[in-house]
Amino acid sequence: MYKEKGYSGINRRDFLKVGVAGTTSALIVWEGLANAIEYASAESFVFPAPVYRTLGRTGMKITIVSFGAMLTPEAEVMKVAFDHGVNYVDTARRYMGGKNEEIVAKALKGRRDKIYVATKTKPDSHTKEAIFKDVETSLRALETDYVDVIQLHNLTGENKDRILIPETREAFTKLKEQGKVRFFGITSHKGQAEVLNALVDDRDRFFDTALVGYNFKSGADVKEAIARAAQANIGIIAMKTQAGGYETGALGPVSPHQAALKWALQNTHITAAIPGMRDMAELREDIAVMGMKFGYLDKLILKRYGAAVKDYYCHLCGECESTCPKGVAISTINRCLMYKEGYKESGLARSTYVEIPASISASACLDCPDCVARCVNGLDIAKKMDRARRLLA
Ligand code: SF4
Ligand code: SF4
Repeated sequence: MYKEKGYSGINRRDFLKVGVAGTTSALIVWEGLANAIEYASAESFVFPAPVYRTLGRTGMKITIVSFGAMLTPEAEVMKVAFDHGVNYVDTARRYMGGKNEEIVAKALKGRRDKIYVATKTKPDSHTKEAIFKDVETSLRALETDYVDVIQLHNLTGENKDRILIPETREAFTKLKEQGKVRFFGITSHKGQAEVLNALVDDRDRFFDTALVGYNFKSGADVKEAIARAAQANIGIIAMKTQAGGYETGALGPVSPHQAALKWALQNTHITAAIPGMRDMAELREDIAVMGMKFGYLDKLILKRYGAAVKDYYCHLCGECESTCPKGVAISTINRCLMYKEGYKESGLARSTYVEIPASISASACLDCPDCVARCVNGLDIAKKMDRARRLLA
């Protein structure tokens, strides 16, 4: 049993004060909701028994709630997760300005043989030399001899042909022969359906895994592509399961995170989700989902949360970009805004934003008299770009 120091929990009476809508049936619903929250935030927390699924043809049995390390400043949080059965961690050297893999290294000490480690090459690394350098640098930072999954970072519908670059494949193959990597993966925030279909259509089926954005706001095309890839034995891991993780008053003190995670995991084509867990409270909230089922209350929570973020949550689909005459990187800019306003990670937001060439950043909108870019989900793009300039430029 793990006890967290100084945690006050959510007071059920306070919750009811905020949440009760007045009618008897509403009272019953919110009472149930309060119970669910109380379970997740009780002072004495019992870690659930780990639940595993197999990551496609890699054969690795990984916990359905695995560790997204991107936002975790303290190795201690990861150590607690690993010591309670979480056995897969996803990192990248570019997170936290290069520090994230070092934090993961501290958590892996004495546990390396029990934990599967996934990291990423830099998005602009295509040559053999660049990929070798990326992997060697990651191995040093992670203080390990090998990583279990090396992922090509940030594939989109437009650049999905990166999976076919011969030098990339040769580099990955060589690294595998040298025992420095075990499996090959990709990551995708945007155009996930196209990217997943490209992996399946690749006649060599070179890639073993895909880390893709997937949440209760995802379109049918993404869901279908995930099913197709999973049936082709490509291991699918979900990220961005929280649809931005925005704070909203619409649910009172109820967090939508468990409901969102449960929603993603009810799809058995998803092997695992990798929520970012910054501290013990977030770890406890997310890990508790193992063994839980998505139910009526979760549906209610997501309905409210979805309605509350409708006007600013970007699906990162990229559909709007062809309607902008300047080809502004609207979905990437919106992802930066999500890091800033949803995740509250200003450093990550800014470091991702500065990688966007100025000619297609939000600054390109300054001399555009009238925004003609159109969002298929009704977002006001001019307003989002204006906000990005103010917060990130
Ligand atoms: S204002 Fe709209 S149409 Fe103009 S450059 Fe920006 S996103 Fe494109
Ligand atoms: S602004 Fe709209 S169309 Fe563009 S990426 Fe976001 S959700 Fe998709």
